[in-house]
Amino acid sequence: MGAPASLPARAAGLARPAAARLPLPGAGARRRARAVVTAARALLDEGHVVGSVGNVSARVGRELRITPTRAAYERMRPRDLVRVDLATGAVRGAGVPSRELPLHLALYRARPDVGAVVHTHSVAATAWSFLGEALAPELEDLGYYDVGAVATAPAAPAGSAELARGAVAALGGGGAVLLGGHGVLTVGRTPEDAVVVARVVERQARVAWLLRGADPRLVG
Ligand SMILES: [Zn+2]
Repeated sequence: MGAPASLPARAAGLARPAAARLPLPGAGARRRARAVVTAARALLDEGHVVGSVGNVSARVGRELRITPTRAAYERMRPRDLVRVDLATGAVRGAGVPSRELPLHLALYRARPDVGAVVHTHSVAATAWSFLGEALAPELEDLGYYDVGAVATAPAAPAGSAELARGAVAALGGGGAVLLGGHGVLTVGRTPEDAVVVARVVERQARVAWLLRGADPRLVG
């Protein structure tokens, strides 16, 4: 691993991309679904999401499992996740997927190495997304986790194809992207990996705001 451009993928636990592309056996699918629910609850408990505003998904073979729309994360069970065909975007079985399904689909299609996607409106990172500038790694955390600078995608309506296109482009091969005037999106090999990146980005955003508030020379 020499080039800096490869670091974000390594940080998000993406060093072993091939396995996620293969259909998983039943036990693997159940484990992955439990990991999605665990990740969603962690985001709720830590205050990164309120209610069900935010969404988590994981790749399971040729499908994904995504949190349903307007579902209370406290009571959500693995069976409540919505199954979606990755190629067609068609829902299989019961449930209504998060309205950000197009965003998740676009990321999995563009990044075969990605096994999980997390989207939140965590406060500091979301506030930073209104600035339209990259979140620089001023704290060592982003460097420690090899996330690097986090770009901001252009603002676009929630759930739109335009938002999905912009996010994929701004994310590139990285582990996190800010959605302009909206929130933050992180990816990883597993839901746990993507949650770690979401925590790190939020922490970096808090530090960045404090730095701006503390030193007028840093206010753009
Ligand atoms: Zn959102």
